[in-house]
Amino acid sequence: MTDHDHPPRESDAWNNPDFCPFCGHGLSDGGPGFIDHVENDENEACRDRFEQWRENVADDIGGEWGG
Ligand SMILES: [Zn+2]
Repeated sequence: MTDHDHPPRESDAWNNPDFCPFCGHGLSDGGPGFIDHVENDENEACRDRFEQWRENVADDIGGEWGG
C-alpha cells in the first residue's frame, strides 16, 4: 500500500500531479516537475509508462498532450 492516491487517468489532476503517478516520487513543480522526473534516466521505468499512457490518451482524444 502507498500513502498517496493516484488521480484517475481521465482526471485533470494528471496534467498537474504533485507526485509521480507511477512511482509516487514527490514532484517539485507539478506538471513541469513531472516532465523533469520522467526525463531523468534514473526514472526510465516511469518514462516508459508515461509514454505508454500518453499514447493511450492520444488515441482517446486524437491529439498530443499539450498541457
Ligand atoms: Zn516516477
